Amino acid sequence: MTNSIGYKKHSIGYSLAVALLSAICGIALSQERVVVIDAGHGGSYVKGKTDGSQAGYGASSNNAHSASKRYVEKDLTLEYALEVGRAFEASARAKQLGIRCVQTRTTDRSMAAISRAATAVENSAAVFISIHFNASRDRTAHGTKAFVSSETHPDWEYMHFNNPYADRDKAFSARLVEKVAKALQPYGGDPSKAAVHGDRRGDGGYLKDGLRTLGFARMDTHMYKSVMTLLEVEFIDNPRVEAWLLNPKTKDQVRKDCAAAIVEAVCDHIEGYRPPPFPLKAKGR
Ligand SMILES: [Zn+2]
Repeated sequence: MTNSIGYKKHSIGYSLAVALLSAICGIALSQERVVVIDAGHGGSYVKGKTDGSQAGYGASSNNAHSASKRYVEKDLTLEYALEVGRAFEASARAKQLGIRCVQTRTTDRSMAAISRAATAVENSAAVFISIHFNASRDRTAHGTKAFVSSETHPDWEYMHFNNPYADRDKAFSARLVEKVAKALQPYGGDPSKAAVHGDRRGDGGYLKDGLRTLGFARMDTHMYKSVMTLLEVEFIDNPRVEAWLLNPKTKDQVRKDCAAAIVEAVCDHIEGYRPPPFPLKAKGR
């Protein structure tokens, strides 16, 4: 009898403690969603390292230059990433959703692709966005683009990390490029050119350091189900784009509007997100 009562007492106390703990943990868990913002490139030139290179784990120091050569991609990615951080700080909606923004780098420094990915892993990130600026050989290309890890890759491709969440990543990226392109439209952006590509050959994609970052992050964060995307804000080597995107009179406002659009896209995603069933099997493997 005593034992039974003792057990019962323990049981009630234990149940209460568990209920209390899970309530606290539940609140803590539901209150924090980490968004990792990765400023693409950075630091100084590493011999033999380019965006096209498949050697090593590094990310190239810089890729695109503006048409006038006045601006380099690595500086713009950092300026935009920091602006996104400030926009999250200022957003009441992001606060309400418990979003905490973490940067992979806040200074001009070299960073390996795998270290960028590790930032997402360490923080169990809900969203990982790598910010870049595009360039094209014909110098007339324009539009906001996003790249995601494709569902599958043939074995002969370096970037062969499969992505069972490709559809979800594509849907988020479509919302992201749409919002960013609309924010850039008043200055000269063209939403009809906004597009999302996979990174598989023939899927509009190509091998890039940033996508390798996504690949590593994807490989390591399967269990965290982070949304991952590489955002190419615009083509800065197009003189017509440089004229409005980097116009000294308006470029700060352009950057702020772009950052606000990124925050909105992330908030929409966090608000409506329901995790997919786990485990999810990669297609074709
Ligand atoms: Zn880049």
